Amino acid sequence: MSVSAVAADRSVCAPLPVLGRDVLVPLVTGGEVDYAALDYAASAPALQRVWDDVAAYAPYYGSVHRGAGYLSQLSTDLFENSRRTIEEFLGCRTEDQVVFTRSTTDSLNLLAAVLPENTRVFVFETEHHASLLPWEQRPDVAVTYLNAPRTPQQAVDTLEKALAAREPYGPALVCVTGASNVTGELWPVRELAAAAHAHGARIVLDAAQLVPHHPVDLGEMDVDWVAFSGHKLYAPFGAGVLAGRADWLRDAAPYLAGGGASRKVSRRSDGGVDVEWHTTAARHEAGSPNVIGAYAIASACRALTEAGFEGLVAREQELIARLRTGLAEVPEVTVLSLFGDDAARVGVLSFVVEGWNSSHFAAALSAEYGIGVRDGLFCAHPLVRTLLGSAPQDSGECGAPDAAPGEKSLNAIRVSFGAGT
Ligand code: PLP
Repeated sequence: MSVSAVAADRSVCAPLPVLGRDVLVPLVTGGEVDYAALDYAASAPALQRVWDDVAAYAPYYGSVHRGAGYLSQLSTDLFENSRRTIEEFLGCRTEDQVVFTRSTTDSLNLLAAVLPENTRVFVFETEHHASLLPWEQRPDVAVTYLNAPRTPQQAVDTLEKALAAREPYGPALVCVTGASNVTGELWPVRELAAAAHAHGARIVLDAAQLVPHHPVDLGEMDVDWVAFSGHKLYAPFGAGVLAGRADWLRDAAPYLAGGGASRKVSRRSDGGVDVEWHTTAARHEAGSPNVIGAYAIASACRALTEAGFEGLVAREQELIARLRTGLAEVPEVTVLSLFGDDAARVGVLSFVVEGWNSSHFAAALSAEYGIGVRDGLFCAHPLVRTLLGSAPQDSGECGAPDAAPGEKSLNAIRVSFGAGT
């Protein structure tokens, strides 16, 4: 069965309704063909429930932590209750903090900013740029880039070896993705966390692609931090989360300096300024908070918890299986995989078609069949190049075409599913 056939067959009910088909279809296709948005890994449409919750609150919008008025009080309550909901959703431990950010990228940059001096970071070259790149922004931080493993066990062994070879002192952090945004493959998070902890390192989970498809429990997975984005979790209102251990967050300078992060500011006798910073999550949330973004994430967490992941996962797995069966019938297609055909994956799959430039292929899917997918290198250039077996090179921005028609494509096509597909 082809991609278009999978997209066109809507016989199985989606477990959670999402917004927008009635608006999107005429807008994108002029009403001539049905439209299937199969790019959930980039941004997922809002759940109807999230939209309804946000719409119900919007008339009462007010400033958070900054007013005695009713609207301000309500907004402060919603903001802080959203934090509690997310704590529960993530199985946070008593000491953990939930910090609201703009996105996964922002969350990981925040963590990079609060690392103790001279932390050593270990990261697989296969990571999304959001988890690959923030660490070197700190000149005192040494980063060890680990080669792409070809099995989950090899990932654990590679990490073990690298950690064992490091100096046995000083802080260390491992950064790993829960599910790849390119292959959808699940990484052995618990085993990697155990390896990190056995060698005195901490671990942060990039859960941007995991959290929309899979329960994430900090305590149970034994990870120190988790980062994710609302817009991939059916809450596209500009917010993200960094959740986890409070100590490094509390001990570091605020990510942004300003109101909200500071508890007390006073002039010194020498003319300078003394600042007492908050020690709670507010320390890294200076400025007026994005209450709608936070509330939307909490609403999505509630909706997913109530619906349960089982139905969503079953539907995604069914779609992935059908897509794979269809693609297997086309000899020109190669499905990209790091861990092999049997690897467990979320509802994300990338492929190339021999003789086709992936960008042209994706454009044709949209124009002719009303199927919206992603093409490019998916902000994971080293991974995609490894998967395509191509030599490192300079070309290829995120999403930029870099092969002429008929040449071997140096970028790929990604199809991704979620609630509503
Ligand atoms: N990590 C992974 C695995 C992703 O797939 C993405 C986005 O595609 C990110 C991080 C960055 O997310 P954001 O762009 O919301 O910061």
